[in-house]
Amino acid sequence: MVQRRPLVAGNWKMNGSRSESATLLDGIRKGVSAASRAEVAVCPPYILIPLTAEKLAGSPAAWGGQNLSVHKSGAYTGEIAGPMLRDYGCTYVIVGHSERRTLNGETDAVVAEKYGAAQAAGLIPILCVGETLQEREANQTEAVVARQLDAVLDRHGIASFRNAVIAYEPVWAIGTGKTATPQQAQEVHRFIRSRLAVRDKAVAENTRILYGGSMKGSNAKELLAQADIDGGLIGGASLQAEEFLTICRAAD
Ligand code: PEP
Repeated sequence: MVQRRPLVAGNWKMNGSRSESATLLDGIRKGVSAASRAEVAVCPPYILIPLTAEKLAGSPAAWGGQNLSVHKSGAYTGEIAGPMLRDYGCTYVIVGHSERRTLNGETDAVVAEKYGAAQAAGLIPILCVGETLQEREANQTEAVVARQLDAVLDRHGIASFRNAVIAYEPVWAIGTGKTATPQQAQEVHRFIRSRLAVRDKAVAENTRILYGGSMKGSNAKELLAQADIDGGLIGGASLQAEEFLTICRAAD
């Protein structure tokens, strides 16, 4: 039987002062255990990554970026490159979060380019996919998720998923307090895995697929109990150490 190590990753989005973040990181450092089955990671805003690296160095927790440039370096004012994230000890980077797709106009092609840039820099991309409420109501969930996935699969190949994580994040569940039911989430997770399996069964079996969308301490267990849910990408609930650690423990 395949043993996918669960991953619980916090997406802090654009939140946190230096002192609030130091307190949060101290709490996470204290609460994560090297003995736990689940892997824990946090993705703070860029400017807090040096502090995160300092606070979590030597702990079992990993850290990552929320975005990266498609370029390696150069005249791209305001951008941060994958190699810079690696230089600060990042393991992961989120690509294709729905907020970036919607608010920053990131197309499937740009997301695929960022996924490649992440891997080229030695980072593990956390590739976000998911449908809007309108798309779900129009029965387009699978078509949308397939399109988002195929953009990356066609460009980088199934083998690239040996070094990637997928996060299914229904847009209507992000930051809304509305969580997908465990069954709704499981259905899409199974669909994603089957989409990978068409290209390579072993890669599909080993790829971690996280759920994201209003996951919190009180609903994490049920969601994480589903066969194809291998962890969570946590927004709001990752800003409180105890709440975040409750989710991490539920993934153990
Ligand atoms: C997210 O933005 O990745 C997310 C899952 O947010 P929230 O948990 O707040 O819904």
